Amino acid sequence: MRLENCIFCKIANKEIGSEIVDERPTAIAFKDINPKAPVHILIIPKEHVVSLDELGKNGCDVLRDVFSLISDIAVSEGVAQSGYRVVVNIGEEAGQEVDHLHFHLLGGRFMAWPPS
Ligand code: AMP
Ligand code: ZN
Repeated sequence: MRLENCIFCKIANKEIGSEIVDERPTAIAFKDINPKAPVHILIIPKEHVVSLDELGKNGCDVLRDVFSLISDIAVSEGVAQSGYRVVVNIGEEAGQEVDHLHFHLLGGRFMAWPPS
């Protein structure tokens, strides 16, 4: 399902421009417009899903495609050996700004733990 006025649905449907990195049948990856690390790519389900617990019956297909993209992109972006972080912000306190499930792939610099 595509949600009107959802910016990530529009990116997934290629209605607005983005720097698409790669895609699978149920998921697509594109560069974050405001990168927080030298490598910062967002991986999203093509269908509108607000959060992980709303993935529904196609959740296994989506997660397989999401993690296939993540591991391939880590190699192609040159961070598979040095290390990288995958982050999902869920809800207000975690800092989720876009209500379409997205996985951040961050790499190319040292990162603090725990996150602020
Ligand atoms: P979050 O705070 O986890 O919801 O992250 C949302 C992310 O989406 C932020 O890192 C934004 O920089 C990114 N973002 C918002 N709009 C766009 C866009 N049009 N293209 C690419 N990235 C975007
Ligand atoms: Zn959406």
